[in-house]
Amino acid sequence: MENKKELRTWLDDLKLNHPLVIAGPCSAETEEQVLKIAHELKDTDVSYYRAGIWKPRTRPGNFEGVGALGLKWLQKVKEETGLMTATEVANRAHVELALEHDIDLLWIGARSTVSPFIVQEIADALKGTDKVVLVKNPVNPDLPLWLGAIERLASADIKKLGVIHRGFSTYEKSKYRNNPEWQIAIELQTKFPDLPLINDPSHITGKRDMIFDVSQTALDLNFDGLMIETHVDPDNAWSDAAQQVTPKRLVQIMEDLRIRKETDPEAEYNKELTNLRAQIDVVDNQLIDLMGKRMQVADGIGALKKRKNVAVLQSKRWNEILGKMVLQGEEKGLSEEFILKMFKAIHQESINHQEKVIKG
Ligand code: PEP
Ligand code: MN
Repeated sequence: MENKKELRTWLDDLKLNHPLVIAGPCSAETEEQVLKIAHELKDTDVSYYRAGIWKPRTRPGNFEGVGALGLKWLQKVKEETGLMTATEVANRAHVELALEHDIDLLWIGARSTVSPFIVQEIADALKGTDKVVLVKNPVNPDLPLWLGAIERLASADIKKLGVIHRGFSTYEKSKYRNNPEWQIAIELQTKFPDLPLINDPSHITGKRDMIFDVSQTALDLNFDGLMIETHVDPDNAWSDAAQQVTPKRLVQIMEDLRIRKETDPEAEYNKELTNLRAQIDVVDNQLIDLMGKRMQVADGIGALKKRKNVAVLQSKRWNEILGKMVLQGEEKGLSEEFILKMFKAIHQESINHQEKVIKG
């Protein structure tokens, strides 16, 4: 894999802290709230102050943002604290207002990235600006859709372009609000090593006590920055209350994160090793999840066989599966011996599960 840190990007040229930190509330609520949080983030590692002005809510009736008025509060943030400002834009009117109010960084939200029409409208409105533009992944785990949005912005001559990984929604229950599906971000990073990649642990986890862990994984996987929702009174926030952290907690998280050095040759080696190990950890976790799912299906089969009074072991089907897996394994460079051992172990566990159901 190419080492992205050897490439210079617009982000390196801005000479901001590494990792880049974007922090601030989910939503701008009141002028007082916006300024209070900003003053607490002044003189920390935070480079950009975020606040949602127009909020995309899944269901109507929730707080939908204060609108253009909040852009004036962000201008005040810049005047009073020197922090650069960031907000989400979801149509041409938002872009025009954000540019009028000299917002420094504009991001496209996960619900907009899914729509090529909206992305094109935003790209057209942004044409020729020198602002930083970040594209959040679409809500669904679709890499080409994400890449398509990036291409539309690149075609509009946006030079300071980057991406935000905020996880993907699933119907299945998960410990995450939005599953990270790290392999998608890794694939994007491998394809476009000079595209700055920011992680948004707030929307991935949905819970403030999981933010540190996800942030660490992101840094281990070579992410360039973090976007973390921060609020002076998280529990009473008007949106995303469970996932916001206080400015104090944010500073602690930044202190505790292992941030790897970039120049030391020994650190180079460690960095690569940590990166590879983090990828192994991600895949191992997926293996366990998949095995768990497979055994749940086996339990279902056990229940069915019990109802119909059918034997657990169906050797004809099992031999067909094994033959197919050996061939598929060969294509992936896996030995026959390994495939047989692995599937026999899986099969045994599956039988144990079914027997438990049938006897239960
Ligand atoms: C946000 O950043 O507050 C937000 C709405 O994020 P997303 O588009 O990732 O849901
Ligand atoms: Mn939010």
